[in-house]
Amino acid sequence: MAKQEFQAESKRLLDMMINSIYTHKEIFLRELISNASDAVDKRHFRALTDSSLAPEGGYEIRLSPDQETRTLTIKDNGIGMTRDELENNLGVIAQSGSLQFKKENDAVEDVDIIGQFGVGFYSAFMVASHVTVISRACGEEQAYRWDSDGADGFEITEAVKDDYGTEIILTIKESSEEENYDEFLQGYKLSSLVKKYSDYIRYPIRMTLPHPVMKPKPEDAPEDYQPEYETVYEDQTLNSMVPLWKKAKKDIKDEEYTQFYTEKFFDYMPPAHVIHTKTEGLSASYNALLFIPQKPPYDYYTKDFKKGLQLYASGVLIMDKCEDLLPDYFAFVRGLVDSPDLSLNISREILQHDRQLKAIAISLEKKIRSELLKLQKDDREKYTEIWKNFGLRIKVGAYANYGADKEKLRDLMMFYSANEKKYITLKEYREAMPEGQENIFYAAGSSIEKIDKLPQAEMVRKHGYDILYLTDDVDEFVILQLEEEDGKKFRSIADGDLDLSTEDEKKEAEQKAADNRPMFDLMKESLDGKVKDVRLSSRLVNNPVCLTSEGTLSIEMEKVLNAMPDQQGVSAEKILEINSAHPIFDTLCKLYNEDQDKLKLYTSLLYTQALLIEGMPIDDPAAFSNEICKLMAE
Ligand code: ADP
Repeated sequence: MAKQEFQAESKRLLDMMINSIYTHKEIFLRELISNASDAVDKRHFRALTDSSLAPEGGYEIRLSPDQETRTLTIKDNGIGMTRDELENNLGVIAQSGSLQFKKENDAVEDVDIIGQFGVGFYSAFMVASHVTVISRACGEEQAYRWDSDGADGFEITEAVKDDYGTEIILTIKESSEEENYDEFLQGYKLSSLVKKYSDYIRYPIRMTLPHPVMKPKPEDAPEDYQPEYETVYEDQTLNSMVPLWKKAKKDIKDEEYTQFYTEKFFDYMPPAHVIHTKTEGLSASYNALLFIPQKPPYDYYTKDFKKGLQLYASGVLIMDKCEDLLPDYFAFVRGLVDSPDLSLNISREILQHDRQLKAIAISLEKKIRSELLKLQKDDREKYTEIWKNFGLRIKVGAYANYGADKEKLRDLMMFYSANEKKYITLKEYREAMPEGQENIFYAAGSSIEKIDKLPQAEMVRKHGYDILYLTDDVDEFVILQLEEEDGKKFRSIADGDLDLSTEDEKKEAEQKAADNRPMFDLMKESLDGKVKDVRLSSRLVNNPVCLTSEGTLSIEMEKVLNAMPDQQGVSAEKILEINSAHPIFDTLCKLYNEDQDKLKLYTSLLYTQALLIEGMPIDDPAAFSNEICKLMAE
């Protein structure tokens, strides 16, 4: 059989690995043991329905160092690999995107890229000059052997193997002055590495270790007899086998959670928050170990992303990503659930209708929600980060299904506050409202900086009222869905009448509006259907013009919807508002009496300016620029 090349991506990764971007070479053992444990999990699961597949002496992972041949063998009696699997699993990288990640994060030197992207097996080449894998898949007669020196590809040949499972034989590199590899052949070192990284693996990790034993004293021993020792070889189990989630919380160090999380869920950053809970209830009993990541995974916003938790039934892994355990709005949560209530030999289809599973899901959702609320209260900084990273899904969740879940999610929501200059909850806004403020004001735009400059906010600000900044596309739709907070309605600063004036001011404004009605009508007409009306503004203080809207569709929503492929052509009912306190107003009045053609030109310019302020596209930028220049040259 000719040598096969590694797939291009794998080859590059391999080079990276050999030239070790990762300095802690010792983690290769953790990676190989973790693979072995996964393989045993799989066989264990299959044996639940086919007991003939269970190994006679029980499941185990065995380490055998041999100093003479400089080999370290890691043997498991797991599911094994077929010829194709050897070729496909060990010849390519399991998860794409790893190299992409590396490219984007070149600065991040010491990240655990190995654990993160399921390239665990390759880490063997950090310590081995040659790797042999002998494997026989469960139920197969023929075993196969995979051989590689790393860089230049691999070879697969037929092999003989008595039992099912996989044996990985590492030929450990020669030590040099800089690097000591010999320790990976020493029993005590290996045993301490197992304790350090793989203690919770649920199957015994065994090794035969030399053990000095005193020889019995001979009966005819002389008086000055010195006890003699002999070395016996004894089988030892190196790990405690208690899965982390079954240990008591108080016995677990933060580093242990972090190690467990980063390794098992392929993240290179520690979790932002850990939820470790044990629930014994009438409807459901389970242990759950949940993690909120610091950052969304690289595929979080693609359709490839799949939510879900690992599901264990009495300690046996039965599903890697059980979607039904998490609602969409908590899709960012990673982790696992272990329940004694679930039947072991349950099929996926039955699982979907399983009452226990539903009860667990409901209970978990409550738990996640209450933990988030607790964080919001006790550790605002952390919660704000989580909100910034994952809040979008929660908002979408509140909006989806005609708002069916909105009340559950309302308290989790935060928006940026103009007054506080940070994210606050709706309740906090409501509680800080001064006497006399009738509405909760919000402003929508593409960024905080842009909303800060919106002229429509002037009058609201002058009153000292806070404004919530809505910067995500979905925000305004969510606010509409929520309708009100504790009796106070949400109101856009760009909304029809803001009702901020006193009775006297209102009367005066009405009079002024009536006096200037003919002029406004002419202006409206000249805009030829682009606006529904031209009006005197009650919300501007220093700025000359702005656009507002009437009806449910706001200008920001028009922008959002028009950016969607199947929604183009929707249009908000726009109102052009003029500030009567601005000198331009007097100019307009004068032109109305003296030069109506010029009034029409000015109207068109003011309208275009209002569009620009809104960040809306303008119809004819060149014409706009020419008109302005003409005026400048006058
Ligand atoms: P990951 O374990 O993250 O998927 P690896 O590169 O470590 O990535 O392993 C690739 C694949 O090779 C595994 O997903 C598994 O299917 C297979 N594999 C590795 N080691 C073993 C083993 N000891 N027994 C059976 N299959 C294995």
